[in-house]
Amino acid sequence: MGLAQEASRVAAEFEYSDAQVNKAVKEFIRQMDEGLEKSGTTMSQIPTYVTAVPNGTEKGLYMAVDLGGTNFRVCSINLNGDSTFSLTQSKVAIPKELMVAQTSKELFSFLAKQIATFLQTHHGEHYHATIRRRATIHSESGFEEREIFNLGFTFSFPVQQVGINKGTLIRWTKGFDIADAVGKDVCKLLQDEIDALHLPVRVAALVNDTVGTLMARSYTSPGKTGTLLGAIFGTGTNGAYVEKLDKVKKLNGSENSDNVDRTTGEMIINTEWGSFDNELRVLPNTPYDNSLDKETPNPGIQMFEKRISGMFLGEILRLAIVDLVKERKTGLFSDDNSSSNDVHSTTCLAENSPLWQPWGLDTSFLSIAHGDNSNGFKVTRQTLDKDYGVHAASAEDAEAVKLIAAAIGKRAARLSAVAIAAVVLATDKLSSPQDIATADDTPVNEDEMVDIGVDGSLVEFYPGFEEYIREALRQIEGVGKHGEKRIRIGIAKDGSGVGAALIALVADKLAKQAQLKEYGEE
Ligand code: ADP
Ligand code: MG
Repeated sequence: MGLAQEASRVAAEFEYSDAQVNKAVKEFIRQMDEGLEKSGTTMSQIPTYVTAVPNGTEKGLYMAVDLGGTNFRVCSINLNGDSTFSLTQSKVAIPKELMVAQTSKELFSFLAKQIATFLQTHHGEHYHATIRRRATIHSESGFEEREIFNLGFTFSFPVQQVGINKGTLIRWTKGFDIADAVGKDVCKLLQDEIDALHLPVRVAALVNDTVGTLMARSYTSPGKTGTLLGAIFGTGTNGAYVEKLDKVKKLNGSENSDNVDRTTGEMIINTEWGSFDNELRVLPNTPYDNSLDKETPNPGIQMFEKRISGMFLGEILRLAIVDLVKERKTGLFSDDNSSSNDVHSTTCLAENSPLWQPWGLDTSFLSIAHGDNSNGFKVTRQTLDKDYGVHAASAEDAEAVKLIAAAIGKRAARLSAVAIAAVVLATDKLSSPQDIATADDTPVNEDEMVDIGVDGSLVEFYPGFEEYIREALRQIEGVGKHGEKRIRIGIAKDGSGVGAALIALVADKLAKQAQLKEYGEE
């Protein structure tokens, strides 16, 4: 077989048919329901204790901090009440030694100091006024509520959330290791250090980045209706959506059910859908998926994510490429002048090429290859040469790589459509009575729109990712052509900034409601 046919054969392994997509949607909905009923399920369906999404009219000055893997970001956000906001931010790298500090105090006091510096720099007047007042007023209640900044804390590590501003660290990831923090409430760890510096800041909410995305999109999206789903397609993939409270059965009778605000009848659920179908009942599987899974520190886990997100797609492509290179008869990246038997010397792939190394191919390369419409695939060949040590790739080589890359990207987008459709269908967003008789070409009016916020480099930069999602949505039972038109997908930037601020706002409202209620009962 020639190279073109070999490439088509590999690309075909990534095909994910309409029938398979439909089957997966049904299974996704089943696993969502199961996750709402009990704990310990494949999809965690974590209650976030956030019970409303914003509509764009929210106002006020809030703070947000984001402890990701590498940086600590501090921002203040002014919500203007008209779907717009302004954001001021600073960012510092987290010193390596603090990631593995002896005590959590070392890390969290560092974080509090960054908040102090930020306040001095950007809100100096407010900061000094509060410090002055603190010095003259003795009782805590002497502080007026308006002097306090409510802060949303985005903490991107696994936590067991038990209230809107309360959650215990399950374990560290991403190179962090501070034993005494495990099992503690991370909001309290931060609040204690903030209080030690007498800062006018209250940790009002613990924020997951997916929930932040949902909130940010809901605030900025057009129209008055709230956003249904916030979804991330970046390094990983995950989604958070608005669920009916009475469907979250596992909250009933749990020790934390007192912390639930029941006024809206809704709650945002963090699906943790990266773990959908770890059992591979309905997910597609290829030899490349299998090899990748074995290379990971968590084989058999996050199987949905391993077929969709930026951390993995590059590696899937790399494994496919290496396979073709090793099967020399395919001629991929072959060096025609060599007669050696050693793979490394019969290919124009340099011996020290990152392509020989696990995780050596970045997912951004898929975007480059797929989007390459240059003459003779020049752009792809240049990238291969410059970044990947492939020094004499032919146009045929580049075309073969493009074909496989496109197939991997398309499958990822179709899988993303499974998650989106499942959430839309499970929450019954498309089944208003007038739809039954609606023809495919009936125009959609504004308030029929189902809004979805997305974030992440993959959905933002992979060419045609949204169109592939839409193509799949049109083929899904219960969505169809008309339903697909009713689904509006928009990029939600700054989830950990404006989204976290919005959660702080909601949390503050809830705290005040609770105070009023207590007051009334006395
Ligand atoms: P995070 O998920 O950490 O918030 P991003 O949303 O930027 O960050 O996603 C980073 C991931 O996206 C990485 O896995 C990277 O390989 C991938 N990526 C970066 N640029 C692109 C691109 N142009 N096309 C596709 N994937 C990309
Ligand atoms: Mg992100």
